[in-house]
Amino acid sequence: MTTGPRIGHGFDAHRLVEGRALILGGVRLPFERGALGHSDGDALAHAIADALLGAAALGDLGSRFPDSDPRWKDADSMGLLAECAAAVREAGFAIVNLDATIVVERPRLAPFIEQMRENVAERIGLARDCVGVKAKSSEGMGYTGDGTGIAVHAVALVTAR
Ligand code: MG
Repeated sequence: MTTGPRIGHGFDAHRLVEGRALILGGVRLPFERGALGHSDGDALAHAIADALLGAAALGDLGSRFPDSDPRWKDADSMGLLAECAAAVREAGFAIVNLDATIVVERPRLAPFIEQMRENVAERIGLARDCVGVKAKSSEGMGYTGDGTGIAVHAVALVTAR
């Protein structure tokens, strides 16, 4: 195995629909629509999980917890994220830090960012100052701009122990 730092990247997108809760980083947001998905649709948890798995070259979230499997129907994605972090550590890596950008026009996420950071840090077993979460609009352009969907980009840094 390589020594030194390794980076991983994750991306996730979900359609926003009526009749679903909008959950990001384990925070249930007050909003009239939510993410369509087999699990609870927590796109922040999904993107971070893929970044962590990617840094360790352990595949992706979808192959670990396939959406064809009824066990993961409405699954708590923060629990899946914790399992991915544990798998990365079991493979011999220490998790250094991670950073994520949520792209959505509405709702406004600023009041909830700190709670998302705290939840992610706690579930992964990192200090909060090692977890970055940011929100961006896409200025009305594309599926994140017209309210059709939400996207999250994430990167994670790990080191071989
Ligand atoms: Mg997803």
